Amino acid sequence: MDSRRQSSAKPITHKDYKSDIKPVWCPGCGDFAVLNAIGKALAFLELPREEVALVTGIGCSSRIAAYTSLYGFHGLHGRALPLAAGLKAARSDLTVLVAGGDGDGLSIGGNHFIHACRRNMDLTYIIMDNEVYGMTKGQASPTTAADWAQGKLTPRGTGIRPFQPAGLALTAGATFIARAFTGDPNELARILVEAIRHPGFAFIQALSPCPTFRPEQMGWKRQVRAFADETTADPLEAARRIQSDDGMSLGIIYRRELPVFQPGAPAREPAAAIESEFRL
Ligand code: SF4
Repeated sequence: MDSRRQSSAKPITHKDYKSDIKPVWCPGCGDFAVLNAIGKALAFLELPREEVALVTGIGCSSRIAAYTSLYGFHGLHGRALPLAAGLKAARSDLTVLVAGGDGDGLSIGGNHFIHACRRNMDLTYIIMDNEVYGMTKGQASPTTAADWAQGKLTPRGTGIRPFQPAGLALTAGATFIARAFTGDPNELARILVEAIRHPGFAFIQALSPCPTFRPEQMGWKRQVRAFADETTADPLEAARRIQSDDGMSLGIIYRRELPVFQPGAPAREPAAAIESEFRL
């Protein structure tokens, strides 16, 4: 794959980061906007495709890697972050993006999420939050409201308070925390640019409606608004903003530079030596 930044007179555009695989997402799914925003952010930064990797878990939104022309890794359910951390440890020169849904990242992957926050590796993690498991037909996720009644599993709601992803990230030690809305892909792209530039673990909660199982989320466009205040580097102030908000305020909430964890790259072994370890 050639480096368009260096070898072509034609300016790179967001379309250069798309593959020719047609997304299977439902019409109106917010995940389309995340795909576009990733392309726009990378085009703005003029990052060659071969210098970027996108690691995902499992779920509707985790299909996103296949729809880009980046190096992609469609991992196991909830395991995108450890995969990405390993990749970044071995290849610190790569820009490593991580993406998935609220179920993938906060339920089965919840333990990995909190440790990725505190480890502060230079990763950008986007959770496409639609407060539901879409791929498995609409079960409650860790961000589903306690009273969302649905189907046979939770006919009267879960009765359990949902996570606040931004608050969880702050408590666990993330150094860049933002909330964005897929209904405003340009702002999402702007936040992504800042997240990629941030040295350390950058977390973006992208409110991404699921019109199939949560059609009421199409009303989010009337509920979102910008945070009243600029981003802060004070964790107490960030906590106050998150806790006093209804979860619909958007922007870069918190940004602080702290030492980045980057273990030395392991010695490279010949592929045959690695393969021999996995022989049964
Ligand atoms: Fe998107 Fe929901 Fe359809 Fe999954 S089920 S593709 S999250 S709209």
